[in-house]
This record gives sequence, structure tokens and C-alpha cells, in this order.
Amino acid sequence: MTFATAANPLLEKQFQIPFDQIRAGHVEPAVDKLLGEARERLDQVTSDAAPRTFANTMERLDRLTERLEYAMHITRNLEATATTPELRAANNAVQPKVSEFYSSLPLNEALWRAVQSYSLTEEAKALTGVRKRFLEKTIDNFRRHGAELDAAGKQRIAEMDVELTRLTLRFSENVLDSTNQFELVITDESKLAGLPESARAMARASAASKGLEAPAWRFTLQGPSYLAVLTYLDDATIRRQVYEAFVNRATEEKYDNLPVLQRILELWREKANLLGYRDFADLVLEDRMAHSGARAQEFLADLEQKTRAHFERENAELKAFAGKTDLQPWDTAYYAEKQRAALYDFDEEALRPYFPLHSVVNGMFDIVQRLYGIRVVEKTGVPVWDPEVKYYEIHDDRLAGASLLGAFYADWYPRENKRSGAWMDVLITGGVSAERHEPHAAMICGNLTPPVDGHPSLLTHREVQTIFHEFGHLLHHCLSRVEVRGLAGVNVAWDFVELPSQIMENWTWEREALDLFAHHYQTGALIPQDLFEKMRAARNFRAANAQMRQLGFAIADLALHREYSRERDGDLLTYVRAILQRFSPARLPERYGMIASFTHLFASPVGYGAGYYSYKWSEVLDADAFTRFRASGVFSRDVGSRFRENILSRGDSEDPAELYRKFMGRDPDPNALLERSGLLAGR
Ligand SMILES: [Zn+2]
Repeated sequence: MTFATAANPLLEKQFQIPFDQIRAGHVEPAVDKLLGEARERLDQVTSDAAPRTFANTMERLDRLTERLEYAMHITRNLEATATTPELRAANNAVQPKVSEFYSSLPLNEALWRAVQSYSLTEEAKALTGVRKRFLEKTIDNFRRHGAELDAAGKQRIAEMDVELTRLTLRFSENVLDSTNQFELVITDESKLAGLPESARAMARASAASKGLEAPAWRFTLQGPSYLAVLTYLDDATIRRQVYEAFVNRATEEKYDNLPVLQRILELWREKANLLGYRDFADLVLEDRMAHSGARAQEFLADLEQKTRAHFERENAELKAFAGKTDLQPWDTAYYAEKQRAALYDFDEEALRPYFPLHSVVNGMFDIVQRLYGIRVVEKTGVPVWDPEVKYYEIHDDRLAGASLLGAFYADWYPRENKRSGAWMDVLITGGVSAERHEPHAAMICGNLTPPVDGHPSLLTHREVQTIFHEFGHLLHHCLSRVEVRGLAGVNVAWDFVELPSQIMENWTWEREALDLFAHHYQTGALIPQDLFEKMRAARNFRAANAQMRQLGFAIADLALHREYSRERDGDLLTYVRAILQRFSPARLPERYGMIASFTHLFASPVGYGAGYYSYKWSEVLDADAFTRFRASGVFSRDVGSRFRENILSRGDSEDPAELYRKFMGRDPDPNALLERSGLLAGR
């Protein structure tokens, strides 16, 4: 079946996307045409003989791929939520072409010259605000991608990028293969003592799927299986065996990631040096809120120092509880779970009846209406990709004539044609300027507990937090009022992007906010006070250990880029082990290769390398910013308006540190995070 381009819905940008008409067969012809169009537009920018202006250079650059983005966003989102083999094939066919086009832009000499000559004009020198920032960031971005290097330098960057793509892919394949290589089959049921029924059922199903004859229970190094064994299984010998296999994945023989890791680090360092930076951390952090590797290291060291005493107290308490003078690393999760049950007598399942999805979502809309004066309304009769998907509009009634800020689709339940996890994704980036107002569009997805046996969907508290979190990202996109598309919405630094999302989670812990939406699905009752108190108390159980674990990874991540020298420090695994030991509640085994399976850091050429600190960094921002809401009442319209004006509507139109100061009146204070986690000194 072929599609005439005239009838291809991906070629015509429409605010209400015709999801009912889009087919896999539309993808390739549309993307090929739009890529051609983007190349033509690029030629028009670079070959324009008229004097350079913001309009004929920067604005055209900002809108260069607008139509291509529209088609790509829709394709990617359909592939994630309603995939078919045809759609997957089409997506796989177009992705490489599109990413190749994007990565060619900063190396395009003619474009670089056009931007540079514009920057020398009087108009450019007089720019202010978001336009000034856009020009500066564009030039910086070209530089960081090698635009100023000579031909040999550019050639070397391109070679390194090819090698890095290959190595990072190899890294994740090795992790996957060595994870899958391990299995532990138990046939004696008495060895399963301690393990809950859900984990036994999972292990039975895993054994059956491998054709093993019952009775047999099969355990693997996949997250749910591994965590269940380490947390619940009474037999310490088995826990040890599984633990040692887990922490030494991808350290041996054909799946050995050590040489891969060494080479990735060397290349990242060479690239940074070639571009004039001390190290890779300084290269990637320059454009982030932390600005430099040294600043990120100081931030982490400060938190480490403030957390250490609590960490040691928690570890002493756990040893006392377990009645042991020394705990092994495969013992801590096990005894911690026993301690948690003894201290809090709190069953997370008891909260579910108070969290029917419908009521949670409506309560969340109510909260943002109070805070930001926006109205979220459901609209029916709009084309969607699955009958379960709902469509909403966000209005601000104060904006006469243009009250529609944005619209979004919500897709909450798991399906076989949908990927796992929860996420927000952009469909259309609108924008505002003196002449125009275009609403935004986005989608929000989850894999939440579906309705069963005539009961509505009843969520865990973690799932409630997930909804609030993703909705925070959605507001950041839909409330954006930034003239430059590339600086709008969630196009912000990685260590800032989680502020709008994480701050939303705070409302799921406040009694007043919970009372708006946490109503028993049968009786309408609010959460009983004793259950609420247990939930609050258990929130900070072993918070210092959780924090130290994150700090350890973040500190090791930066040390590898900024301090590690193979000649001086020797073997990389031993070096990282020594760092992580400071953050571990138990003595780590001599052979400890966690870093070799740290896909988060090394499985992508532009992944989270040197960026792990961002998690703690954003947590500091969200905990601190929320104190302003708490102080004025958690529904304060006044504080809400300031948050909306200075953060949610501003995208990356100004330095995020400046945006934060405008909201808070000062720089972030890390004590707010410590206080929220119960880790302030003197407690
Ligand atoms: Zn997030």
C-alpha cells in the first residue's frame, strides 16, 4: 500500500493530531520529505546574501526542523504506546537518518559562519533577554562540538564519536548478556524460606518459561528477582552467591567491560582536552547549573559531610537490631527490611483503597488550579491512539482570547503494545511572541495498576507520586511562554529539569493536599490519622543510607573524569571500589565490579557520564523550593504565581540559577533536603 504525500497526515501540522488516520506506512515517506525540506531550509539560511539579521539567521535556525519534529514526536510516541511490527520497523528506519542530520548541524561550516557573522552585527550586539541567550548558547554549542577546530581536529572528533557510539553500545550489550548468563535454580522448597509468595510465583513462572520441571524456582539478576532474594531470603549463603554475581557482572571473559570502560574514559578525556577543557566533566557541565566539575564535587562533598554522622548512626542501629557485630553486604537489605517491619508496622498496600486513579488525577488538577490559576478540562470526541487514552485542555481564563495554554493526552494503564515505565513527552512546542500565541501539546504515560474484578484502579503511594512527578514535567512544557522554541519548556539543563517534576511529589505527602483526593473508593473516608503517620514515619527510614548510596555513585562518577589516572591509581575496579567503600554500610568484597555494569553512566555516548550528581542537585532544589510553599500554605496562590512566573513559564530563557533566585530570593540551601529526609544535625 502506498500513500500519496498529499494525504500523509504527518506532513500537515495540526493541533488536534489525527491519531486515527496515522499509519506506519506514512512514517518513512513523511520523514524523507521533511528531512529534504530541512536541508533546503538550511541551504536558504546559509546562502542568504542579505545582511545577517536575527530573523533571517537565528529565527530560521530555531524553526528549521519544526515540521520534522512534529512527525518524529508523533512517530516516537506511537511507537512507545501503540506499537506494531510495521511501526517499529518504520521508526528504526528513520531514527538514524534523523539523528545523523541533527549531529551534522554543529559541524556545518557554512552555518557556523552564518551564525558568527550575525554575531558581529550591531543588531546582535544590542540583543537582550532570551534572544541574546539564544545567540550565546548557539555559539557555545557549536564550540563544544568542535566548530572552531581545524580540519584535523574536526576529523578526530568525528572518529571519536564513531568509536564512542560503538563502545557504549558494546558496554550495554555486555551488561545485558552477562546479566542473562546467570541463573540460580532451586528445587528444594525449604531453601525459599523468608521469600514472599509474589517472589516465589515469579521464580516459578521463570522456571516454567525455561521448560524446567516443577518443583523448580529460577532466580536471575534482573531487578525484581535480585531485590527479592537480597531483601527476603533467609539463607545467607544463597544471598551471598546472588550478590557476588550481581556486583561482578560484565567483569569477566567475553563480557568484560573493563577494557571498554577504560577506552570510553580515555576518549571522553581526549575529546574534552581537544576542545580546550580540563576534563570531560568540565566539558559537559559547562552548560549546566553546576557549570564545572569542581563545583559539582564541592556540592557532593558538602552533602557527604552533613550526612555521614546519620549514616553511621543508622548502621550502628541496624547492627544492634540484627544482634551482630559485623554485617556483610548481602545482609544489609535483609536485616533492614526486618527492622523496618518491626519499627513501623506499615503495610503499603493498606493505602491503595484511598488512591483510586480517577480521584487522584482530579485532585491533582484541583491542586494546580489553586496554585497556578489554571483549569484542566477533559474533552471527548478527540482522536486518540487507544480507547483508554483521555484528552485534556489546560486553560488560563485571565488570558482573554487566548486562554488555551496547551493540551495533553493521558495514557495510564499497561498494554502489550506499550513500553514500560512512566514518562512525559512533547508533541508540539507552541510559543508566544508579540505576534503569535500557539498552544503546546504533550502526552503523559504510565503503567499503573489497572482496574480489576470490578474495582477501579487503586494505586500505591509510589504510583501517586509518579503521576504527580510526570504532571510536573507536563506543566513545565505546557505553561512555557518562551519566544525561542529551542529554549522553551523542558529544554533546560539536566540538573534543573527535575525541579518542576520532583516538587510536585511533595504534595502527595501533605495532609491538606491528600484530603483533596485520597478518598476511600467505597466509603469516601479520608486516610485515617494513624495510617498517615505511619506512612510519614516510614518515609525517612534509613534515609542517610539511601542518600550516601547516591552520593557514592555521583562522587565516583566525577572522580573517574577528574582524578583517576591509570598509571598512578592502577586498576579501575579497585579504584572505584575504594571510593564506594566510604558509602557502603558493610565492608565490600575484594572483588567488587559494580562500575562495570553501570549502564546509566556508560551506555550512551551522550548519557549521564559526569551527570549523576544531577539527581541530588535537583532534589536540593525541589526540597528547598517547597519550603516556600509550606511557609505560606501548600495552596498559596501567591507562591504558586511566583513559581509559575519564574520557573514553569520560563524554560531555559534565562540562566536557571537566576530563575531560581528570582523565585526564592536567594541561592538554594541544601539544608532543606536534609531536613525533609530527617538528616539535619542535632536530630
Ligand atoms: Zn522526571
